[in-house]
Amino acid sequence: MKEAKFGTKSIWAGEKEQLAFGATQVPVVHSVSFGYDDMDEWYDVAIGKKPGHIYGRNTNPTVQAFEEKIRILEGAEASTSFSTGMAAISNTLGTLLFPGDRVVSIKDTYGGTNKIFTEFLPKQQVEVVLCDTGDHEAIEKEVAKGCKVLYLESPTNPTVKVTDIRRMAAAGKSVGATVVVDNTFATPVNQNPLELGADLVIHSATKFLGGHADALGGAVCGEKSLVEAIYHYREINGATLDPMAAYLLLRGMKTLKLRIDQQNKNAAEIAEYLKTFDMVEAVYYPGLPEHPNHDIAKEQMNGFGGMLSFAVKGGVETVRDLLPKLTYANRAANLGSVETVVGPSRTTSHVECTPAERAAMGIPEGLIRYSAGIEDIEDLKEDLAQAFQALHTYAKN
Ligand SMILES: *Cc1c(COP(=O)(O)O)cnc(C)c1O
Repeated sequence: MKEAKFGTKSIWAGEKEQLAFGATQVPVVHSVSFGYDDMDEWYDVAIGKKPGHIYGRNTNPTVQAFEEKIRILEGAEASTSFSTGMAAISNTLGTLLFPGDRVVSIKDTYGGTNKIFTEFLPKQQVEVVLCDTGDHEAIEKEVAKGCKVLYLESPTNPTVKVTDIRRMAAAGKSVGATVVVDNTFATPVNQNPLELGADLVIHSATKFLGGHADALGGAVCGEKSLVEAIYHYREINGATLDPMAAYLLLRGMKTLKLRIDQQNKNAAEIAEYLKTFDMVEAVYYPGLPEHPNHDIAKEQMNGFGGMLSFAVKGGVETVRDLLPKLTYANRAANLGSVETVVGPSRTTSHVECTPAERAAMGIPEGLIRYSAGIEDIEDLKEDLAQAFQALHTYAKN
């Protein structure tokens, strides 16, 4: 039979092995451990000679279904899971980096990731070099000096900058670095970093994969020996994905293709629409032809994603007045959910940074991150229109 298409795989992949009692849905196995009457069988499972489960911190059937689904969707050899996206990132870096090692990354990584680079890794004598996002020559120059890990994120949070993954992966490979890409914003629907040459793909499953803002989780996919080393670090350090969360993420992922297709469309239309408001200073979306990395995005992405951001005139004051006027948007820190979510970057992705640090990263204080939901586009547009209109009326009084 021909290999199934993405939408079909997101529904069927990874589940069959975990079905019991003729159930058509993966059960939530809430058992901390798994018992054996046969001591030899127990031993064989414990040393990995036989498939099975021993203890919930290591493996669990529901969690395994989640790992298998994301593995197949990313087209990876192996995968493992984590309690959160940050656990996926910190466990991956913790597995790969030792005192004296050097890691090259970009300035615009997710706020938490940026903290690992600026606060924690230097304390462990790991040299961290953060290049200007989008400055491919600068990244290549730093990578050429030698590094253990090249860590990328594309598109970035919140100004949706795009890095040429194929080009950077080639640079990383040439010095023997492990190339890691955070694919949270794009999802495997829109981008396949492994196909572009990356060694490992990371997800905050909390966002688009789960898609319903009701479960935290993370995943790493890639080459088997790398993933096994990361899994080992995680099983000992204990950042395990909970079975209930795994179930919610699995259920969310069945509609991944449908949701992302709609979010791609909504975000593209909102980005164009925002440009028509005089209160809007700038719109950031990789799908806009004027986006500085639009050509790279077009080349390496199947869709431009559901995330955009825009800067409003009047900075923080305008943000404070505008956002509460929106009806169909949660004002919250998450993203990638079925409902539209908005928030100022200074309180969401980059709350850990000082205003000076945010300015250095090119994040205006009046920047609003907009995660397009799957609502009807007419409603989202009308909602923005009435909010800007109310802002005008208010300004005139
Ligand atoms: C949210 C996010 C993370 C962290 O994920 P958590 O599940 O919140 O720990 C990492 N990378 C990106 C791009 C994110 O948006």
